Amino acid sequence: MQYLRDLARKYDNEDPLARYREQFHIPKVDGKPCAYFTGNSLGLQPATAKDAIIQELDDWAKHGVEGHFHARNPWYSYHELLMAPAAAIVGAKEKEVVHMNGLTANIHFLMVSFYRPEGERYKILCEAKAFPSDQYALESQVKFHGYRPEDAIIEIEPREGEHTLHEEDIEAKIEAHKDELALVFIGGVNYYTGQWFDMERITRAGREAGAVVGWDLAHAAGNVPVKLHDWDVDFAAWCTYKYLNSGPGSVSGIFIHEKYANDTDLPRFAGWWGHDKDERFLMEPGFKPVPGAEGWQLSNAPVFSMAPHLASLRIFAEAGMDALRQKSLKLTAFMQETVEAVAKSAGTKLEIITPKEPERRGCQLSLFAHGQGKSLFNHLMENGVYTDWREPNVIRAAPVPLYNSFADVVRFGEVLEEGLKK
Ligand SMILES: *Cc1c(COP(=O)(O)O)cnc(C)c1O
Repeated sequence: MQYLRDLARKYDNEDPLARYREQFHIPKVDGKPCAYFTGNSLGLQPATAKDAIIQELDDWAKHGVEGHFHARNPWYSYHELLMAPAAAIVGAKEKEVVHMNGLTANIHFLMVSFYRPEGERYKILCEAKAFPSDQYALESQVKFHGYRPEDAIIEIEPREGEHTLHEEDIEAKIEAHKDELALVFIGGVNYYTGQWFDMERITRAGREAGAVVGWDLAHAAGNVPVKLHDWDVDFAAWCTYKYLNSGPGSVSGIFIHEKYANDTDLPRFAGWWGHDKDERFLMEPGFKPVPGAEGWQLSNAPVFSMAPHLASLRIFAEAGMDALRQKSLKLTAFMQETVEAVAKSAGTKLEIITPKEPERRGCQLSLFAHGQGKSLFNHLMENGVYTDWREPNVIRAAPVPLYNSFADVVRFGEVLEEGLKK
């Protein structure tokens, strides 16, 4: 471990993003900051989040309803503040992004517009063992349209003995079902294995087959550099409380490609906040959508969840996705090296089921603990190393470039080694 400690010191000293760590609240265990590797589940609180919320509380106290127009950030147009910085993170044009509701709700609302089964073309292609909420959303949507999930949902499974998927297998599956597919809907980064799919390639294959292609970016937004507009993705949605550090249950983001900006033929479940801004308060019948993603909004902006998100987006805008990705590549490779060294020294098998190729993953590593089970995970937690546990035997650890250090990774390695030797 000594050479890893030395390397970590060197890397931390050289790290141009090291100063961002101080801008986050790191939970303490026994009075000492923990090594927090669960930013893939709930990102840490930016130090600026509290003031952002207090500002809105103060403006509410001061202005009451007039805060809609007279708050420092007027609530009437609050959501607009998030559009450009979020668009930069997901590779979109400003008008292609808006924030509303929670992620699962948005998957449903987007499917109202983009899952339009017709004739033979009614099936949905997704990854096997998708995040449960996505499975429930897809199943309930196909049932809502009168189909049976066993028939209408096509799942792509890993090859025998493997954990992750091959893009060529996904393409082959798309090709095999090309006349039946209405929608391809996959998690951009798989929540369980940490695999980042070649989204451009799969989007192309899906669209060439005549399907609509949507992505769940819960584990991708703020983690990996995506280019939704250029890749010609039809739609996407993500939560903002994982890598985007905006707090539990915070507002979700959606992307709708520019080509649908003025498409009023698409069915949609409408609400007043999607209605033309100049006429919103005329309260007249007849829905006239704002062009672009904003036209999909239903309710007025949830300012108390958008405020910490805005604070967080400002940090992303300053640090920049390119620099974050650079550090992420180095930090994750360093964690891989550490895990491999520890497993070797402890003489145990600790299989990394996340792809080894950096371009096929974000910052999460999923470790399949063959010998030891949950006791190893408990040992990590008890010693101030936050990871998470997923049945049947997987420990997920995400070294997040904004606030994790190389020293955190070494600490993870040390505690892991202790646990394995126990
Ligand atoms: C985290 C996550 C969710 C959570 O959905 P909410 O509606 O925000 O509770 C859904 N899908 C995926 C793939 C996730 O990773």
